[in-house]
Amino acid sequence: MRKPTAIKRRRPTAQRIKFHRSYRIDEVTWATGACKATIRRWIKNGLPTVQGSRPSLILGADLLEFMRKDSRRQTCGPAECFCFKCRAPRKPAYGMADYLPMTPTGGNLSAICAQCETLMHKRINLTTLERLRSELDLKIVERNRDLRDGR
Ligand SMILES: [Zn+2]
Repeated sequence: MRKPTAIKRRRPTAQRIKFHRSYRIDEVTWATGACKATIRRWIKNGLPTVQGSRPSLILGADLLEFMRKDSRRQTCGPAECFCFKCRAPRKPAYGMADYLPMTPTGGNLSAICAQCETLMHKRINLTTLERLRSELDLKIVERNRDLRDGR
């Protein structure tokens, strides 16, 4: 079984962006820490570029505005997981999720991203699990069955 590797990614930051400057994509990369693919996605998702500019220029003001809106969408609702491929909170496909108990009080929720079908994980506690029962089709995965039976 393939184990999902945890990729540590730093969230893009708007701290170095100056309101009155304009940036080429590679400069945005440097200034925000976001990769080029992310910035192209931002442009596709509505980040304005200066019309007719080659290479594309992005106004600092537009970038700041866009990143502020983008970061507001980064918090997952109770029935959502953060998808690392979409880099956004996503609902589980078909409203289905697996719960794997890790401790007596919490465990891992895993689900498939409804958008891109990437496997998503999230740590939840039992209180959240109970609340999710009404929103998601939850499957409780048994863990260490042998260990439990031998107790
Ligand atoms: Zn996704």
